[in-house]
Amino acid sequence: MNAQIIALSNQKGGVAKTTSCVNLGIGLAQSGKKVLVVDADPQASMTISLGYPQPDKLPVTLSDMMGKILTDQPIAPGEGILHHAEGVDLMPADIQLSGMEVSLVNAMSRETILRQYLDTVRHQYTHILIDCQPSLGMLTINAMAAANRIIVPCQSEYLPVKGLEQLLQTIGKVRRQINPKLKIDGILLTMVDSRTNFAKEISALLRETYGSEIKVFTTEIPHSVKAKEASAEGKSIYTHAPSNKVAEAYANLTKEVLKIEKQREKHKAGLTR
Ligand code: ADP
Ligand code: MG
Repeated sequence: MNAQIIALSNQKGGVAKTTSCVNLGIGLAQSGKKVLVVDADPQASMTISLGYPQPDKLPVTLSDMMGKILTDQPIAPGEGILHHAEGVDLMPADIQLSGMEVSLVNAMSRETILRQYLDTVRHQYTHILIDCQPSLGMLTINAMAAANRIIVPCQSEYLPVKGLEQLLQTIGKVRRQINPKLKIDGILLTMVDSRTNFAKEISALLRETYGSEIKVFTTEIPHSVKAKEASAEGKSIYTHAPSNKVAEAYANLTKEVLKIEKQREKHKAGLTR
């Protein structure tokens, strides 16, 4: 195996990066994939929402693994990786990761420390999902340098949709300077209140502004308090509220993500034939 590495990134907070990472990850696991989700946010929201409410008490987290790469120490197989009842593995984060981000600034090959860590576990998974922090700092650049795909969750509001420009510029720069393999899978509209005309306008604005260059996922994630409850319980939306529309939407997103990689494989096979 050589995992697909997908970063979920947007420098804005509260746009459902973490929620999407959890539910896409578990959705992929339910489709029979072998999935690792990596918490690359010092706030550790994903670690908490996967059932580890006190990340600072975990013996090993991502910052330890990146520290080992920085100091050239060996990493044991499966070191620090936790397992969630719903079938995904987790590399957790804790607040130490913000100190790690500071040390990266002066490190050699500072943009590829996360990639070098993931290279040690990549063969064990079909998919690795990286939950990014809400900034375009060194940790996010590391995620973009490690990934071959990016999903951009975007809250269905006017300003978040307008604010994508800076993110797309950064992705472009990473692609040109560090990681030419990086592709944008698409922009994912989240927390959509489909009862309002406003939501329809936002969706139309997004498709009009970016749709010619970047895919906007057909699936839109509806707004529902069930999504909030699920993360508070340390569960996916599929377990917490299986018949909820958010569960259906994340299942559809999972299918769309798998379809994208099938199409890319086909395209590649066509090119080499
Ligand atoms: P980010 O990682 O981008 O900061 P989160 O995934 O933490 O965003 O989501 C921000 C907040 O919105 C959280 O409280 C989360 O539970 C809530 N949320 C996420 N998705 C939905 C949704 N579909 N409907 C309602 N609330 C949601
Ligand atoms: Mg988050």
